[in-house]
Amino acid sequence: MIDIRGLTKRFGETTVIDGVDLRIAHGERVVVIGPSGTGKSTLLRCLNFLDRPQAGQISIGDLTLDAARASRAQILALRRRTAFVFQNYALFANRTAKENIMEALVTVQKQPRAEAEARALAVLAETGLSDKADSYPAALSGGQQQRVGIGRAMALHADLMLFDEPTSALDPEWVGEVLDLMRRVAARRQTMLIVTHEMQFAREIADRILFMHSGRIVESGPPEQIFGAPKDERLQRFLSRVG
Ligand code: ADP
Ligand code: MG
Repeated sequence: MIDIRGLTKRFGETTVIDGVDLRIAHGERVVVIGPSGTGKSTLLRCLNFLDRPQAGQISIGDLTLDAARASRAQILALRRRTAFVFQNYALFANRTAKENIMEALVTVQKQPRAEAEARALAVLAETGLSDKADSYPAALSGGQQQRVGIGRAMALHADLMLFDEPTSALDPEWVGEVLDLMRRVAARRQTMLIVTHEMQFAREIADRILFMHSGRIVESGPPEQIFGAPKDERLQRFLSRVG
């Protein structure tokens, strides 16, 4: 359902994503692990053209983009099929929780305001934040802000949800509630590609784990295999460090 071929991203002389091939089935939960600086964020960002790849092909459903030739209309179409959850939430500080969720529904999806508002309120109820609908981000805890960030992504009903270390900016006390919300999203068979350092969570939620190193996926498999019988020496070293 999602088919990525030969994805390549360079910053200047440095190749950060080095010809990545990846297929993700509908409803699959894929977790990406690997050392920092290895291209995990860039891979996610390339999948909705927050970073523009120089080469490769991305297909989601019946939409196929050639990275080198993608038109503005194709990029917008790709963005409509993906939703991104950022490490630092990336909420608009001058908009309430409800307005943050409505924003893309109105501006990108062109929904009438009343419809967008109804959907935002429904999502706030699902994320347990109904009483925070009219609160601004500064009045919310880190965990609540990230739940709004996830709610905003949920509201888009995207084919693919991308999570880039959604709990790594949080104080430890807020991590659990964010992971719980992600478990609920996963339980709906939402297709998810998640970068995380929460290994216990990865083990529990992933259908498949990808280990990235130097811009390549060097090992992939079900969690039992990746954690129980890692083959690549770099993966073995990584796992012994993150414990
Ligand atoms: P990870 O998420 O695995 O920690 P990143 O994808 O953030 O890794 O970064 C991979 C490499 O690409 C790093 O060496 C980083 O310095 C480089 N990089 C990321 N973004 C940019 C950018 N906008 N300009 C130049 N180099 C970048
Ligand atoms: Mg990163």
